Amino acid sequence: MSEGLLHHVEVYVSNLKRSEKFWGWFLEELGYKPYQQWAEGQSWKLGETYLVFVQTETEFLDIPYHRRRTGLNHLAFHASSRERVDEMTMMLKERGVNVLYENQHPFAGGEDYYAVYFEDPDRIKVEFVASSPS
Ligand SMILES: [Zn+2]
Repeated sequence: MSEGLLHHVEVYVSNLKRSEKFWGWFLEELGYKPYQQWAEGQSWKLGETYLVFVQTETEFLDIPYHRRRTGLNHLAFHASSRERVDEMTMMLKERGVNVLYENQHPFAGGEDYYAVYFEDPDRIKVEFVASSPS
């Protein structure tokens, strides 16, 4: 038990099937394993942390997610190396995922910050960042 670390994050999505496909691929690339699954949701777990994706109920679909509104802006994941960031960037592009800030890539977060930023199917921003070289 690591008190204080994130236990889980639960995200409501507009189209569960579509999100499962995207997040399943990405998280399993990172070593997450499918954890819980039910008709309206799916989770993946790595270590002591899991991420849950749940289908938004129809009556709440009228207002779409927007990362510039109040609330979650992005989720960031550790990459083991800069090479891994490059590899992920290639895989994302091959899959037709929208890569953000391409003109500044991979330094959109600063000159000592090596990351790729992209969008999930609801346009939640996702970041994959290499630990700073030490
Ligand atoms: Zn960030």
